[in-house]
Amino acid sequence: MSNFPKKTLEFIQRYLLRQQREVEENLKNVIEDDPAKSPALAESSEPGTDSYMAEIHSKSIVFGKKLTDAKVSIQIALQKIKKGTYGKCEHCGKQIEVGRLLAMPTAQHCVACSKKNFGK
Ligand SMILES: [Zn+2]
Repeated sequence: MSNFPKKTLEFIQRYLLRQQREVEENLKNVIEDDPAKSPALAESSEPGTDSYMAEIHSKSIVFGKKLTDAKVSIQIALQKIKKGTYGKCEHCGKQIEVGRLLAMPTAQHCVACSKKNFGK
């Protein structure tokens, strides 16, 4: 069990659950708004709108992928909270700085490791 302050952990958990709902809602909207998924729209499209549709479609895919990635990291973080391993660096096993987690609750590495491994 990490020495994470319980109050802070509860705060982060609530935040993550809210984020999870938002991401799921956005993901649904992105899929629904994608013109490629809507046959009615595709049929009624006039000449010249195809490239516009294709652009929106490719943007939906990129945005959808970002949202899916976010959803996965949120799920991982929530699972860790449940297991009591939240806040531990995946690389060195040290406690991740609380400030870092508050700024980025889905962070899986401490500042030192993320600098070393990801050049951030
Ligand atoms: Zn580390």
